[in-house]
Amino acid sequence: MAMLEISGVHTFYGRIEALRGVDLTVEEGEIVTMVGANGAGKSTLLMTLCGNPRAAQGSIVFEGRDIAAMPTHDIVSLGIAQSPEGRRIFPRMSVLENLQMGAINTDDAFFDDDLEKVFEMFPILKQRQDQRGGTLSGGEQQMLAIGRALMSRPRLLLLDEPSLGLAPLVVRQIFEVIKTLNKEQGMTVFLVEQNAYHALKLAHRGYVMVNGLITLSGSGTELLSDPEVRAAYLEGG
Ligand code: ATP
Repeated sequence: MAMLEISGVHTFYGRIEALRGVDLTVEEGEIVTMVGANGAGKSTLLMTLCGNPRAAQGSIVFEGRDIAAMPTHDIVSLGIAQSPEGRRIFPRMSVLENLQMGAINTDDAFFDDDLEKVFEMFPILKQRQDQRGGTLSGGEQQMLAIGRALMSRPRLLLLDEPSLGLAPLVVRQIFEVIKTLNKEQGMTVFLVEQNAYHALKLAHRGYVMVNGLITLSGSGTELLSDPEVRAAYLEGG
């Protein structure tokens, strides 16, 4: 059984059907990428996984349990954490306080070790731990958003457009970190991206979403060489 099994998921905003029957799986230990244009429904899928908005139809099974109707905090306690689009860190809180927020539902006994791990992965956050989140650069804020998600000790990490608005060098750093997290800590990662090239290169497997439906799936390499993917997401990009 896959770690995450999504079947026939439909999600609406009022009458707008943003997800029109999505099927997808993520195996433990994988990095899975979903690419798609602006408005395809990528963020809606990640948000539906966390229970807000709810799937109107379909099932979402995480480690054998259907979470489609669970409250968000229960989903987080089961081991799913999200770094949302646009990062949404707390700008007036310090870096350390932001990380503490991520650990709010975990046992205090883990805090120091978990914090040390995040600081090892992102040394800049250690240096800036007393600085307000809002004063960090875009790349540092992205690191903080990922770090905050990690503080909840997830088994599945959801990342919504981690490269959005970042300079190419910083994008590379962020993708390196995701790779290291997966390789060294065995973290399972599901990320959605418009930056198809880097995201598919990193991924074991990928999906393409168009208008709320999966239109293609395959290994990262297969999708990178697929003519449709190249034409829609890679050429000129
Ligand atoms: P982006 O990269 O812009 O975030 P996306 O692939 O993540 O794109 P979604 O944000 O999931 O796409 O949007 C999917 C569809 O749902 C779009 O048609 C969008 O306009 C619509 N939508 C998203 N959020 C809402 C909302 N809160 N209310 C109404 N419609 C929404």
